[in-house]
Amino acid sequence: MTPALPGKGTIGFTTTIPVEIIFAAGYIPCDLNNIFVTDPDPQHFVDRAEHDGFPHNICTWIKGIYGVIMEHEMAAVITVMEGDCSNTQALAEILRYKGIRTIPFSFPYDRDVRVLAREIEKLRDELSPDAGSGLRVEEEMTAARSHLEEIDTMTWSERNVTGAENHLWLVRSSDMLGNITRYSDAAAAFIGAARRRERIEGIPLGYIGVPPIISGLYEFVEEVGGHVVYNETQRQFSIPHRTADIVERYLLYTYPYGIFARLEDIGREVERRGIKGIIHYVQAFCFRAIEDLILRETLPVPILTIEGDLPRALDTRTKNRIEAFIEMLEGMQD
Ligand code: SF4
Repeated sequence: MTPALPGKGTIGFTTTIPVEIIFAAGYIPCDLNNIFVTDPDPQHFVDRAEHDGFPHNICTWIKGIYGVIMEHEMAAVITVMEGDCSNTQALAEILRYKGIRTIPFSFPYDRDVRVLAREIEKLRDELSPDAGSGLRVEEEMTAARSHLEEIDTMTWSERNVTGAENHLWLVRSSDMLGNITRYSDAAAAFIGAARRRERIEGIPLGYIGVPPIISGLYEFVEEVGGHVVYNETQRQFSIPHRTADIVERYLLYTYPYGIFARLEDIGREVERRGIKGIIHYVQAFCFRAIEDLILRETLPVPILTIEGDLPRALDTRTKNRIEAFIEMLEGMQD
């Protein structure tokens, strides 16, 4: 039997969804990925999942998300069944089996506007957002997202935002840390402080693929003469498309709609930001690694593919490869 949705509380989700609806319904949204990876000891969530029977050769993000749900009280979890990860289906089944309320949501692979509109409507039916709150949330979200867009632009135009800061501001915007106005105000304050800094030198690089599970990547890139000025997926999570229509907004969002939707966006940003090389991050046991083949053959700049598995610091071998890649790019500038 499916447990009923309680009054209010936290709603977790497995990847970016139309978070506006959760806010407008009076719940606190929680991106489970961010809770997992920012925990002081993220490995313990993975250990918990493996202890409960998750196989070793399954992506660590899935195990981490499961571990987070087991340790946090949630009114429900929105599981994205299409447009993110095929493992989510089995995860949703386990959650239901354990008595956790799950709400399925899907992004249609073919970007069919009618199907997405229906999915958004279904989500509204589940959560019952208040119409007045919906308007207020839209206004607050627009203000917050314009600050995020400014931070992103400053990263490549003024070059006073680090790759790590760009990553964090954008990736956390999937749930705005549970409070839109607080997040928006903090972003505005960050912009003011960053504008007083020196320009960051270094070869402009792009980062594509799912957000990294490993730590210290951006800092190391800067240490060896690079500067990540574009975080593809994290930027998409911040929904950088200005339109009043929520369906259109989540249709322009590229991440769920496959590699060809992403390629267009990546190509445009590489050109606009003057990017000289790309780091493609792939997660161990993730089907998305196969897409590396298309990316290598279509992108106009050199690509370095790196892989992460567990939530730990960047390893020496990957550091050496990044350093050699940046040296090669420097050589190409001469
Ligand atoms: S990294 Fe890949 S396998 Fe892991 S949760 Fe994300 S999409 Fe799924």
